[in-house]
Amino acid sequence: MNTSTTRSTQQWQAADAAHFLHPFTDFQALAKKGSRIITQAENIYLTDSDGHRILDAMSGLWCVNVGYGQQALIDAATRQLGQLPFYNAFFQTATPPAIELAELLAEVSPPGFSRVFFSGSGSEGNDTIVRMVRRYWDVLGQPQRSVILSRKNAYHGSTMAGASLGGMSGMHAQGGLPIPGIQHIEQPYWFENGGDMSREEFGRVAASWLEQKILAVGPEKVAAFIGEPVQGAGGVIVPPDSYWPEIQRICDKYGVLLVSDEVICGFGRTGHWFGCQRFGFKPDLITFAKGVTSGYIPLGGVLVGDRVAKVLIEQGGEFEHGYTYSGHPVACAVAVANIRLIQQLGLVQQVHDDTGPYLAELYKQLADHPLVVETQTCGLMAALQLGRRDGKGGGTRGQRFDESWSVGMVCRGHCFANGLIMRAVGDRMIIAPPLVITRAQIDEMAVLIRRCLDLTLQDCQ
Ligand code: PLP
Repeated sequence: MNTSTTRSTQQWQAADAAHFLHPFTDFQALAKKGSRIITQAENIYLTDSDGHRILDAMSGLWCVNVGYGQQALIDAATRQLGQLPFYNAFFQTATPPAIELAELLAEVSPPGFSRVFFSGSGSEGNDTIVRMVRRYWDVLGQPQRSVILSRKNAYHGSTMAGASLGGMSGMHAQGGLPIPGIQHIEQPYWFENGGDMSREEFGRVAASWLEQKILAVGPEKVAAFIGEPVQGAGGVIVPPDSYWPEIQRICDKYGVLLVSDEVICGFGRTGHWFGCQRFGFKPDLITFAKGVTSGYIPLGGVLVGDRVAKVLIEQGGEFEHGYTYSGHPVACAVAVANIRLIQQLGLVQQVHDDTGPYLAELYKQLADHPLVVETQTCGLMAALQLGRRDGKGGGTRGQRFDESWSVGMVCRGHCFANGLIMRAVGDRMIIAPPLVITRAQIDEMAVLIRRCLDLTLQDCQ
């Protein structure tokens, strides 16, 4: 029985408002408006409880890389549920799917990564990062090296450590974060912070803020630097190409571990298996989640590079850390099916050679829209910076709307009403569609985006 047909939309909304506290949600505002109830999905399209078809340009929450309804993943889960729905990886036990996934991850990871630690989510993966980098320096006899550096407007999850690593001021304001030993530098957001510099010049300057911070804290105290190759939740902020190589040089200079949070960028999003490969840097640790199972089932973890693995394995003794669901057999079986499907469909190459460049071309065309002051794409993630071009109030790259007007939310409302899921981050409209999206579907999406921009423009005239 399809449960979505057992109640009306209003009935679902009433039960939802009465019992379900949603993440990142103003509970009263939601109760007034009522949730949109999503009942089904296929390929890149969702269906809601009123039967509307919606193009999901956000892949759920940046995760449904292979699109909805992939039978291979459904079969893998069903098979594994029947055979062995759970066993743990504690106390020197393992299950075949967890071992198989660990092996497969070593195959698709950048060179120098042959080991993995599993978690249930990206946030837990980043908690593992904090514990692992501190353990690494402890084992090496440098326990004072415990400070982890990150960036403002980064998103690294919602647990205490994840939210602390993240640089979202709203999150820090609730609950006394960040936890001790985590500090932040400015982000490489050229539109906001670039002044009169070229993008490349700005990339080097933004990276130099890391060196300044390391020197201010004291290099002997800095354990690691963590960053998303492209800041996703912060607004798809694609750094200048000069940024990451310079970050790498600085980390190498001071021996600081470099952590790439690939929860969004991993598994093909940027047209490479991992975002660090797109930007040409070699991290010591990689956090992953989302795309590893295309979101069909929760799974995350940390890919551990040789430098850290060698110390932990050869000198570390017991690593007192782990989760009940580290290496969950059903999640791992789905991940294996998902990665094999990405390989079979050649999705990483397709994003790199075909759909990524095609999206970039269409976004260049969208740049002529009067409401758009900057466009950025990287593989199949993209941002439109909304603003005024009329020079009112100056600004070399366009002028921002008054925040109180919430231009992004207005635009997002038009997207919803017109069958398109786009996300608003302040005044940036962002997308990350499933990697299976075709050129024809990208055309369809671009038409919808332009229509929603037009409607937003009408509202602000
Ligand atoms: N890291 C990054 C870069 C993310 O984008 C996210 C979630 O969006 C996380 C970590 C947290 O992952 P999760 O929501 O699975 O805990």
